[in-house]
Amino acid sequence: MSTFQAPKGTYDLIPPSSATYLAVREAIAAPLRNSGYGYIETPGFENVELFARGVGESTDIVTKEMYAFETKGGDKLALRPEGTASTLRAALEANLHKGGNLPVKLWYSGSYYRYERPQKGRYRHFSQVGAEAIGVEDPALDAELIILANHSYRSLGLSDFRILLNSLGDKECRPVYRAALQDFLRGLELDEETRRRIEINPLRVLDDKRESVQEQLIGAPMLRDYLCEACKTYHEQVRELLTAAGVAFEDDPKLVRGLDYYTRTTFEFVHDGLGSQSAVGGGGRYDGLSEMIGGPALPSVGWALGVDRTVLALEAEGITLDLPAATSVYAVPLGEEARRVLFGKVTELRLAGVATDFAYGGKGLKNAMKSANRSGARLALVAGERDLAEGLVQLKDLQSGEQTAVALDAVVDEVRRALA
Ligand code: AMP
Repeated sequence: MSTFQAPKGTYDLIPPSSATYLAVREAIAAPLRNSGYGYIETPGFENVELFARGVGESTDIVTKEMYAFETKGGDKLALRPEGTASTLRAALEANLHKGGNLPVKLWYSGSYYRYERPQKGRYRHFSQVGAEAIGVEDPALDAELIILANHSYRSLGLSDFRILLNSLGDKECRPVYRAALQDFLRGLELDEETRRRIEINPLRVLDDKRESVQEQLIGAPMLRDYLCEACKTYHEQVRELLTAAGVAFEDDPKLVRGLDYYTRTTFEFVHDGLGSQSAVGGGGRYDGLSEMIGGPALPSVGWALGVDRTVLALEAEGITLDLPAATSVYAVPLGEEARRVLFGKVTELRLAGVATDFAYGGKGLKNAMKSANRSGARLALVAGERDLAEGLVQLKDLQSGEQTAVALDAVVDEVRRALA
């Protein structure tokens, strides 16, 4: 029988490189935790209708990429393709918005699923860290989220990325623009599917990557020429706050995103070392989403940053994160009595907060020392019958090779001193 492989478009995170993924998640989450965002975790699947209504019936995500299925009980569910709809659903269900303390600020981290054509940076199972600020319309909140994402990337040492910024207007001005854009698009030479898209979601035609389409789009009406006064003022304030915070951005009047729910501020973080899948994160304001999924009016803003692509961005910039070794101390017992005594010391060290591992399986000295070196530990704790008879263990510095005898009951203190 042949062995199994990970399903197409997926990959496994395995040590030691998995440590980088954890560190990236942590680096993205840290600024959020520090800015009033509380952690939320929702199920990996939801009623399919939530995404159909929330993300948009005509989007690629819903029509082509969703893992939708019917349970034995007849429920129609889908693996979550993104985090915003679920987070808002959960916040509404728990009445978080009724606590009189808006905005409700939440962050999350998890797996997302899209049935996409796999390529480098585009997977069927991927990982995002996201943030949502629910229930307040305030340009400072839009700016806060962009500043925090920028902070996350910078804290990882990334610099070869750009922030693209646009406003998609609101329910006043967007319909006027939409009609003008439809008029323009209907006059172009386009295939059947794209023609259908003009009627359902014309803004997304602007996002078509094909050159044959892009060259016809020259001269298309631009949303920024149609923004109402309120949207213009709002957008100008977001821009000013970013500038005041020293966060550089580029105005990108063509930036629309793959999800229908965005209004006003939209942004994307693109990394220039990643080729075609260059978006490392993105988000924006979604003032109408709550009502679309049956809630009250709750203007909100949020983003999701892709963990997989952020790791690729680190590789592209040649950045190796300075991660602490997983193991600081490795214990090597020689003989049965030493095994019993050292195992006890290992537990003691761990309780004292020292990352410690043990040579299991009755390895000989040579193999055990090899494992000690491979573990990345700074120190080895070696003991044989003779040491124990004298109440001692040998503490060996694995870099210098220097070895000192330490009294058994002083091990924890001595290890701490050596690691300090
Ligand atoms: P989106 O919800 O499409 O705006 O995605 C937000 C971020 O998630 C993107 O900028 C990517 O970093 C990441 N992402 C989205 N789809 C995928 C995918 N199929 N594979 C890997 N990362 C993805």
